[in-house]
Amino acid sequence: MSDCIFCMIASKEIPSNVVYEDDKIIAFHDLEPQAPVHVLIIPKKHIASLDAVSAEDQELLGYLAVKVKDIAAELGLENGYRLVSNCGEDGLQTVQHLHFHLLGKRKMLWPPG
Ligand code: 5GP
Ligand code: ZN
Repeated sequence: MSDCIFCMIASKEIPSNVVYEDDKIIAFHDLEPQAPVHVLIIPKKHIASLDAVSAEDQELLGYLAVKVKDIAAELGLENGYRLVSNCGEDGLQTVQHLHFHLLGKRKMLWPPG
């Protein structure tokens, strides 16, 4: 999608600090980190949110899920981490391209606010 900032990051029209990339997904550091490690993992395909996922995305999202531990290991998150996807207005989603926040290197709180 031409006016989507994460599509533009995936296509390198907008620069980002990339930590992992292949033909299906890209992971890059968040602009406003909420933890010592805060990386966003996104499918390169434009999907607006978890709520917009369709059956044809099953393989892609499974692929992304399997990559999480490799990206976490690359970032040195051997003590654990949190993976979050904010969805819609109540979920406080601000960028309408499906993304997973990978947060680590500090103790998380539960329940989240
Ligand atoms: P959301 O609020 O939708 O769950 O998460 C969007 C995230 O994208 C936020 O954590 C925000 O800091 C990050 N973000 C927004 N614009 C940019 C950008 O242009 N580059 C990067 N690297 N992160 C961004
Ligand atoms: Zn997009």
